[in-house]
Amino acid sequence: MSYVDDVLARVIAKNPSEPEFHQAVTEVFESLRPVIEANEDFYKREAILERITEPERMIKFRVPWVDDQGQVQVNMGIRVQFNSAIGPYKGGLRFHPSVNQGIIKFLGFEQIFKNSLTGLPIGGGKGGSDFDPKGKSDREVMAFCQSFMTELCKYIGADEDVPAGDIGVGGREIGYMYGQYKRITGLYEGVLTGKGLTYGGSLARTEATGYGLVYLTDELLKCHGESMEGKTIVVSGAGNVAIYAIEKAQQLGGKVVTCSDSTGWVYDPDGIDLEALKEIKEVNRARLTEYKKYRPDSEYHEGRGVWQIKCDVALPCATQNELLIDDAKQLVANGVMAVCEGANMPTTLDATQYLQENGVLFVPGKASNAGGVATSALEMSQNSERLSWTFEEVDSKLQSIMVNIYHNIDEAAKRYGKEGDYVTGANIAGFEKVVEAMLAQGIC
Ligand code: NDP
Repeated sequence: MSYVDDVLARVIAKNPSEPEFHQAVTEVFESLRPVIEANEDFYKREAILERITEPERMIKFRVPWVDDQGQVQVNMGIRVQFNSAIGPYKGGLRFHPSVNQGIIKFLGFEQIFKNSLTGLPIGGGKGGSDFDPKGKSDREVMAFCQSFMTELCKYIGADEDVPAGDIGVGGREIGYMYGQYKRITGLYEGVLTGKGLTYGGSLARTEATGYGLVYLTDELLKCHGESMEGKTIVVSGAGNVAIYAIEKAQQLGGKVVTCSDSTGWVYDPDGIDLEALKEIKEVNRARLTEYKKYRPDSEYHEGRGVWQIKCDVALPCATQNELLIDDAKQLVANGVMAVCEGANMPTTLDATQYLQENGVLFVPGKASNAGGVATSALEMSQNSERLSWTFEEVDSKLQSIMVNIYHNIDEAAKRYGKEGDYVTGANIAGFEKVVEAMLAQGIC
């Protein structure tokens, strides 16, 4: 059995009931095969694949809090500090009922390579809770966030581990957690990113993941003689990533015709009304059923279904495993040109393979959604120098980071004879830098 297959089998056996983690490791290992097999004895002796799949540290804790009825509630909190070879752990916190150890490990593992691709000095981590902020009062969310941070603050710090937002964790939650961190430690430091602008946040952080996704997609299209201008675009999700992907795609002349949430999806053939969407999701925190009130000619459907709409470009921006093999077949039958992931691992392995085999330009989230974490790293830089940069300054740095990421993954794929395979390119380019740093730092 080859070294890659042997370690993959052991990772699966050692981490039962973690299918998302198995999926992420399988995808990365498949891409790394040519790199590892070219120098198998060396990688095996150094146990590089074993080391890179074992988190440096994992913290799991109880989060008790009191709801508005006076009832004590208990949730699970977790932080995976996966790899600090190239910088302090960095990665979001996710609050969603589906959160479990396997999901956080898959996200933390992916984060190592994503952070490396940004070219900035940040290691990989991820965390969260099975707490569901949906339908909770502000007081309940604050009580939860304070309890969560009371435990987490023991393990994080501006030069140690710097969490950010993710699904279910936006400006409100970051604010409550930052306040509690400051209260307990007495430190006013850049321990979290995605902060509000009045207390150390960066301009353009809110927009960064969605904008970055579209900057990279535009560069990809331009390198293939196309651009976003005039393209019909299908987006899933209606959260932070989706909203700002829609905004930038519209600014670049694309027409976005769908969005979705966990209960249903909207098809608006005239193009999504972004102001209406922002009001529904960012201000009222309501369901997409509301959209029809603003745009009576649009369609609302229960369940999932955006991928059946004919488009040139598809941007999955909701959650993992939301674009399945049948969706991929439908997209190809409808002539899709490019699929770039805004969410983390939204496309299943077989769907990814089908898209690639059918000539679709496919960019994995670890490259195309890296704009969020890259801008978080820019927020850390601003906090360290106690300065704030202008929106234009941050946005232009974001744009050049995304363009560089595209060219790096393209070059890495070509170097291993896999031109146009951006999954392989992203995994190899991300891996090479982390491994060089790990080797330089000895056995640790
Ligand atoms: P949000 O919580 O702001 O939005 C998530 C969106 O996806 C919502 O519309 C939500 O619907 C929908 N959604 C969530 N879970 C499910 C599900 N199980 N089934 C169907 N729909 C679902 O999160 P973000 O926009 O921040 O994150 C979206 C994705 O992008 C995630 O994969 C995240 O890890 C990734 N990402 C985010 C970054 C960021 O900077 N925010 C950076 C890099 C990646 P509803 O409103 O009903 O909950």
